[in-house]
Amino acid sequence: MSTIVTRIAPSPTGYMHIGTARTALFNWLYARGRGGKFLLRIEDTDKERSTKEATEAIFAGLDWLGLDYDDAPVFQAERAERHVEVAHHLLEIGKAYRCFATPEEISAFREEARAAGRSTNFQSPWRDIPESDHPNAPYVVRIKAPRQGETTIEDQVQGHVKIKNETLDDMILLRSDGSPVYMLAVVVDDHDMGVTHVIRGDDHLNNAARQMLIYDAMDWPLPIYAHIPLIYGPDGKKLSKRHGATSVEEYKAMGYPAVAMRNYLARLGWSHGDDEFFDDNQAQEWFDLSGINKAPSRFDFKKLQNVSGQHMKAMDDAALLHELVGFTEIFATQVQNEEKRDSLIPAISSVKNGAKSLQEALDKMRFILVSHPFDMDAKAQASLNEQGLAMIRSLTPQLHNAKWTREDLETLFATITEEFSIGFGKLAAPLRAALSGRSVSPSVYDMMLILGREETISRLQAVIDTK
Ligand code: GLU
Repeated sequence: MSTIVTRIAPSPTGYMHIGTARTALFNWLYARGRGGKFLLRIEDTDKERSTKEATEAIFAGLDWLGLDYDDAPVFQAERAERHVEVAHHLLEIGKAYRCFATPEEISAFREEARAAGRSTNFQSPWRDIPESDHPNAPYVVRIKAPRQGETTIEDQVQGHVKIKNETLDDMILLRSDGSPVYMLAVVVDDHDMGVTHVIRGDDHLNNAARQMLIYDAMDWPLPIYAHIPLIYGPDGKKLSKRHGATSVEEYKAMGYPAVAMRNYLARLGWSHGDDEFFDDNQAQEWFDLSGINKAPSRFDFKKLQNVSGQHMKAMDDAALLHELVGFTEIFATQVQNEEKRDSLIPAISSVKNGAKSLQEALDKMRFILVSHPFDMDAKAQASLNEQGLAMIRSLTPQLHNAKWTREDLETLFATITEEFSIGFGKLAAPLRAALSGRSVSPSVYDMMLILGREETISRLQAVIDTK
């Protein structure tokens, strides 16, 4: 069996849409699970949009998502000559023709057809006029599309999609300035890149029928098509900014680990039984075109958080630390100090249960990275009232000799709560404030054990000294 070759062919838009990411993922999974190749083609024929930055956004998106591609990326615009060559070949073999119709003539044709209730698809009179009768005037190159019968797209997701040939006009291949059209470029590139499977959004389904004309005319083997339904928002309308983040960059910034994103996106429009949580190996093994749903999927932000939380919980501490270091640069510089980085390890195991994103984990660990004097949130500030301070004054000297275990600290705290006749919460709040500056943080015990005796005492003493 020949090697499977898939591709992602994004047009640069300035950012990477989550739908493009999902299409890339499906192609990647399909190829990787079958020892095939996954290729990248940048469809940069729209000069205005295809800036360097816009192209970089695609590289960065794929890189972050961990969707590695084979071979060097192909830039469509650089291949224009080859696209033209194919159009010329079609002219030579009589599968395409020069059309000299002027825009006015085309409009007149359409108006007449409309009035007569016929199809307004332009039928060029030049289709059958021999070259010897051609004028010396500007022309476009059109393909000779079949006028009768129907074309069937055998689609792995949509089934047999039949299109009446009379609805397909003699599509332009080369414009009057000689430049190739997008539809030609896609086919030539896919063919030359050896693409065997075209898995893409179903907004391209209609293009497939027209692209098939070119394959036919060139006598090239057709790729296998799988047109996947678009992603909808929770309300069943096409996913847009109204629903929330639509770009890969935004999800990265929110702190979803790439592995969780891959898992979530894989499930968006594809299923393998009831499996919701899986790793890359399983996804590659399971992924198949037959598991792609015909109905559009709905983006479910809660589910993403859930999957993300599960992946974070499952990650080993060192891997999670690595993710966190990569997550924010501020964080990365702070943990360049190896000692500090090592001190994060025990914290990681205590924060990873329950954190749904790297951002949440980072928030929970912030107490380690701050050094006093640090900002206090209003609630934390308020808990350092007279009673709170009195408790801290009573507790701090006793910490010098306490055994630094959870049990011993619990016993010590119990003597304080008894002394002040209060519940544990009333003691925890000012301690939390003094240790982290926050009203929400990991448990006081966890913080003390992670910070160690010296740092704990120093933070408590700082509060006593400044009050
Ligand atoms: N460039 C197209 C897009 O970004 C994809 C074309 C294709 O996959 O054939 O939507």
